Amino acid sequence: MRRTLLILSVVILSGVLGTRALGQSLNTNAQLALVGGSIYASPTEEPIRNGVILIDGDKIVAVGRRASVRVPRGINVIDCTGLTITAGFWNSHLHFLERKWSDAATLPASELSRQLQTMITQYGFTSVFDTWSMWENTRRLRDRIESGEIAGPRIRSTGEATFPKGAPANPQMQMATQAAWGALGFMPLERMQIPRVADASEAIEAARKLLDQGTDGLKLYAVTPGRNGVALPDSVIQALVKEGHSRGKPVFAHPTSAAGLMASVRAGVDVLAHTTPQSGPWDESVLAAMTQAGVALIPTLTLWRYELRHEGISLADGLEATAVGQLRAWVLARGEVLFGTDVGYMTAYDPTEEYALMAEAGMTFPQILASLTTAPAERFGASKQLGRVAPGVAADLTILRNDPSKDIRALAAVQYTIRDGKVIYRSSR
Ligand SMILES: [Zn+2]
Repeated sequence: MRRTLLILSVVILSGVLGTRALGQSLNTNAQLALVGGSIYASPTEEPIRNGVILIDGDKIVAVGRRASVRVPRGINVIDCTGLTITAGFWNSHLHFLERKWSDAATLPASELSRQLQTMITQYGFTSVFDTWSMWENTRRLRDRIESGEIAGPRIRSTGEATFPKGAPANPQMQMATQAAWGALGFMPLERMQIPRVADASEAIEAARKLLDQGTDGLKLYAVTPGRNGVALPDSVIQALVKEGHSRGKPVFAHPTSAAGLMASVRAGVDVLAHTTPQSGPWDESVLAAMTQAGVALIPTLTLWRYELRHEGISLADGLEATAVGQLRAWVLARGEVLFGTDVGYMTAYDPTEEYALMAEAGMTFPQILASLTTAPAERFGASKQLGRVAPGVAADLTILRNDPSKDIRALAAVQYTIRDGKVIYRSSR
């Protein structure tokens, strides 16, 4: 008898859930409806034309064709006719290094909010991974967003990156002085607690300190960029990976060279933060090592021309072509790609060209959409809440003016950015 009751209640329950998933009723609590757009629920599904999304609080409660989803009367409706809707985008490589983010705890909310729009949310990003900045400052920025004071994206951060001992005072770039760094508009390096480590025990100490302070991952420079690059010993990279993984946190590597890439991959880093065009094309052995390690790649194809913006144009052409070739080879090897641009170090924020170059490297629209949604959500352990448009997941949505399956540049033309059911960016166009 008890078993019969149990079966009966399961049947009833699944019936209720089924109806709810189809959105035909029980949506009386929904407060917001997106009506009339083409919905790419995931990169692998055909779009739902003339669709409806119902949102209750911070969650999606129904997704379907307009004919099958009843929109409760009296709720807020955003007319999405002619627009394209996807899950909220991730930018898995950016920084809060520019001076304008300094003093995030005390900057006026309106100012921070506008800065977040300019760099992030106007391009549809609802989740970002800050792959090094001043952690104490970035944490305060995040706290103000999470408290609801400021409209902004979900921020994950590695905090300060770990560098080899003996690296130049200005660790990110070729210029050796902190003054040069400051002249470029970045916040003072002396305010940051940048670990410079010589051996595994120093690396473990630095990693534990960062992770204890609440960072979401670790970032290391396998080899520093520029002339006379300094490398981290293999044992240090291995120690950092072990420490990150012991807390269930991803480890990002700035590879710089072929040697830095191989050392990172062999040590088991989760994400290569860049291609390495300075190394020349990736051969079979490099690709095999990457594939075997199951690493994810952030291409940052636009960065290379930007880095050489003051040099002869043919140099930039060559570097960009090599980077595009590396991504092409990686995609052919079925490697995982995460979208990321390095904005916040790079001051050109518009991702349009990055999308165009990814397409030039042979990535299809579904593959690029995956790099913006499902791939990072899975890689960073958030696939139950983020990365898809489905009942029960967070209402993080990017609404585009045009269909990116027809022109990939449409991914950068955003009409609305919605996070947790709230519009955090709305285009004035
Ligand atoms: Zn970067």
